[in-house]
Amino acid sequence: MTAPVLEVENLVKHFAATRSAFGRPLTTVKAVDGVSFALKSGETLAIVGESGCGKSTVGRLVMRLIPATDGRILLDGEDVTTLDDRKFRPYRRKIQLIFQDPFASLNPRMTVGEILSEPLMLHGIVPAGERRSRVAELLHLVGLQPHQGARYPHEFSGGQRQRIVIARALAVEPKIIVCDEAVSALDVSIRAQILNLLKDLQARLGLAYIFISHDLGVVKHIADRIAVMYLGRIVETGSSDEVFADPRHPYTRALLSAIPVASPAARRERRILEGDVPSPIHPPPGCHLHPRCPYATDLCRRDRPMLEDDGTGHASACHFWRELPSAADALPREGRVDPRLERLFGAFAAGEP
Ligand code: SF4
Repeated sequence: MTAPVLEVENLVKHFAATRSAFGRPLTTVKAVDGVSFALKSGETLAIVGESGCGKSTVGRLVMRLIPATDGRILLDGEDVTTLDDRKFRPYRRKIQLIFQDPFASLNPRMTVGEILSEPLMLHGIVPAGERRSRVAELLHLVGLQPHQGARYPHEFSGGQRQRIVIARALAVEPKIIVCDEAVSALDVSIRAQILNLLKDLQARLGLAYIFISHDLGVVKHIADRIAVMYLGRIVETGSSDEVFADPRHPYTRALLSAIPVASPAARRERRILEGDVPSPIHPPPGCHLHPRCPYATDLCRRDRPMLEDDGTGHASACHFWRELPSAADALPREGRVDPRLERLFGAFAAGEP
């Protein structure tokens, strides 16, 4: 069996929300609260959830852009969680980040050729005499022409700029790329092109992706596995096929219900989840979803449900995942929806265009 390129064990990140006059934290935000997963070469793990669920914080933690409060991060089997910057330097190349806004991350005063040469030089990846040809190769890899290296970022469209950002990430020959809402700002047709490019690069280079997104419609096209997060915890994880075909956690079902359905019989108004996401400063005890969950019992209000794997890698953190109505009954396919779930994700106006 292939060893994972990245393992995350019980990762925790607390931020101080308020401090005393002496700088002591008075209240803390539990942004990430015991997250674990593993990632293999050539695999895409999507981390999905609403804004503020902690998914981007997980991305920044594995990039080592912020320190973890607790837990471990292993790159190629090496524990890099607490390495100082000097010792982490050889590992930094292995994991790269692509943001939502390509324009903000490209220096407007540098040509694209200079932007792509910079990491080659900093990491001593190719000799100075070969840099030009490597830049041309990188541009070609992402579907741009070598002569475009002489232009500046503002001369490119949003999709082309995202290609440049991808080329810059590839310059250091990473094993993992963290894509944080990487296609969210793009038009639908351009988004499809960038997703296809990412898949093509993955097949050619064996890259592993952590694909962070709020959009399950996008995730469906790229993910091999999915981890659904709610208030700092993973509530469901499994292969993309399994999670889409048989979502077990009420929260995953609510998220899936918000994906537009093509069938005219299932046309419905798209509503967001009812109720606000509770504050991560004072998350509800037990199951974090219980104030919004129509199936909640006293057990849910009291005890935290742990992720329970069914033996196939599909795991759900719900006390009652076995007893809940099947997803086919619960999801609003063909205009039907379990009335209890309706309360969770908003009443769909039946027959409303
Ligand atoms: Fe709902 Fe209880 Fe399951 Fe949480 S554990 S999702 S509150 S049924």
